[in-house]
Amino acid sequence: MLDSRPTFKRILLKLSGEVLMGEGDYGIDPDVLARIAGEVRELCQLGVEVGMVIGGGNLFRGAGLAKKGMDRVAADHMGMLATVMNSLAMQDTLERLGVFTRVMSAIRINEVCEDYIRRRAIRHLEKGRVVIFAAGTGNPFFTTDSAASLRAIEVNAEVMLKATKVDGIYSADPFKDPKALRYDRLTYDEALARKLQVMDATAIVMCRENDIPLKVFNINRHGDLVRVVCGESVGTTVVRE
Ligand code: UDP
Repeated sequence: MLDSRPTFKRILLKLSGEVLMGEGDYGIDPDVLARIAGEVRELCQLGVEVGMVIGGGNLFRGAGLAKKGMDRVAADHMGMLATVMNSLAMQDTLERLGVFTRVMSAIRINEVCEDYIRRRAIRHLEKGRVVIFAAGTGNPFFTTDSAASLRAIEVNAEVMLKATKVDGIYSADPFKDPKALRYDRLTYDEALARKLQVMDATAIVMCRENDIPLKVFNINRHGDLVRVVCGESVGTTVVRE
């Protein structure tokens, strides 16, 4: 894999919190973290600059807690803090593999990580450090998909990679509908119009408005992360035309 040549110099990788659960239904599976961190290290060895956004759905989701009566803003604050926990877990795993990292949070928690400062984030990336953007956008009522689009745009990432449990975007949920079709390529407008539930609409619109290609792939298929960064036709690509 190390003789592969990356197509993209700087990427933004979005992992949902659910991916970190592995086979479990809550929390973090350290084996999953280690496997993903190993693949991120391969990217670093190829000279790719990696920004990451990790969701928090494996721990808390604001909307879910709000449905059970909690104030939505308080619940979203908990969701954002959950993303910080996941980010720290990924940082620890990467650093044990010898990868230099920084966690930068959209809400200030100076004792545990840096504040998000755009110019500093870009400098870290240029120095080859993996930057894990924590606490989403720092605002309630948003998702980490939107945070990922925002950070991708801010740090001039060339592509946004959405890591999921399936190998691309399907016409329906492939776990529920055996007739679901997988798309190789879609436009942003098709993804929005067909309500394919790949990412929230805000996140897709931000990619569209800023012309950042979006690639959706299966993080559980070993090697696909490196393949997608090396331009192989893996997963689904969402672009303007
Ligand atoms: N969240 C938020 N603002 C943001 C990003 C996230 O309030 O900018 C909260 C929200 O409650 C969300 C939770 O953090 O449900 C976890 O993020 P998300 O649901 O996007 O995680 P994922 O589905 O990717 O695991």
